[in-house]
Amino acid sequence: MTTKEMDAAYIAHTYGRNDIVADHGKGAILTDEEGREYVDFTSGIGVNCLGYCDDGWVQAVCRQAATLSHVSNLYYSRPMAELAKLLCEKTGCQKVFFGNSGAEANEGAIKAARKYSFDHYGKGRSTIVSLKNSFHGRTTTTLSATGQEVFHQFFDPFTEGFVFVEAGDLAAASAAMDETVCGVMVEFIQGEGGVVPLEKEYVQALAGLCRERDILLIADEVQTGVGRTGTFLAQEQFGVRADLTTLAKGLGGGLPIGAVLFGEKTAETLGLSQHGSTFGGNPIACAGGIEVMHRLDEAFLAEVREKGEYLKEKLAALPHVEGVTGLGLMLGVTLGDGLTAREVVAACHKRGAMFLTAKEKIRLLPPLVITREEIDRGAAVLEQVLKEA
Ligand SMILES: *Cc1c(COP(=O)(O)O)cnc(C)c1O
Repeated sequence: MTTKEMDAAYIAHTYGRNDIVADHGKGAILTDEEGREYVDFTSGIGVNCLGYCDDGWVQAVCRQAATLSHVSNLYYSRPMAELAKLLCEKTGCQKVFFGNSGAEANEGAIKAARKYSFDHYGKGRSTIVSLKNSFHGRTTTTLSATGQEVFHQFFDPFTEGFVFVEAGDLAAASAAMDETVCGVMVEFIQGEGGVVPLEKEYVQALAGLCRERDILLIADEVQTGVGRTGTFLAQEQFGVRADLTTLAKGLGGGLPIGAVLFGEKTAETLGLSQHGSTFGGNPIACAGGIEVMHRLDEAFLAEVREKGEYLKEKLAALPHVEGVTGLGLMLGVTLGDGLTAREVVAACHKRGAMFLTAKEKIRLLPPLVITREEIDRGAAVLEQVLKEA
């Protein structure tokens, strides 16, 4: 049985797969089962920040797997404590909770926001204001927090207590932030929504309203975090500090891990037995995370910003390109002349370069270690496809 046949026979059909069977990879290059190479501008949707099978990462993960692969959170273990220390030192947060995914991290942040409010104000202050066109995950509650109607089907009843306002409309946010509200949840760049950045002034004003009303600012940095936008957290570039920040995708460098970062207000909000996760803080996943943290120093992040600018300029100069949005190595390309991103990306796959789409845009989330040569090689594929379109 081929991989495709086995997949069709045994995997639930929830994904429309691209026609590539991944076999192995190194850096920004993926090789399929037939030995064809692809320059990867997807990195597993922002996961493989150090690329495929980075030497240091492989070593760290293998060493940990051979030492202590898993132990319950009922016991202490070094890797999770160390990763939490590195995260606090890097971001200024006070405490960390580890889970396994972005959705799980957001669930933790939502619970923490409601608990903070309960502790200080009692019941009835549990609503979370979220933005239209946002994406926060696939669990029932994170779907409820997601501001796109297409996600609010089939699975009723959804979790109550979410209201949605237009991104950028401060008056609407202010009106929604009444005495029933405990948190405001934002992505600084809406990723799945089409690589749509928020305005800096809007974000700062929103953070100001949160402070005045003791409403928690919840930053979903599952996609924008861990160096993706050229700073460790995207919020650094927006000049705000969230009360709760969630991370996942890039944090383990390719292993499943999610984290809630608690700021000063929320550091002690979740108490004994009030939250948990069997796999959360798994030593192997944390060993991957520690390697990522060690590698993402200031010089590395400056490189991400420079390569991001380089890639952005290259993309903007391609035929049929109407605009490029995003920061660092999180970019979205708007096509004109009736071209559809989906078709262009499919054509690129046939010629040896992998891209994502988000809404009507081509989306790029290359590994942060991608070289200028690899950028040139992949952009040349896109250029050829666009020229012939
Ligand atoms: C991917 C993503 C999630 C969900 O993460 P999972 O690991 O798939 O649960 C949540 N929020 C944002 C902003 C994301 O990009």
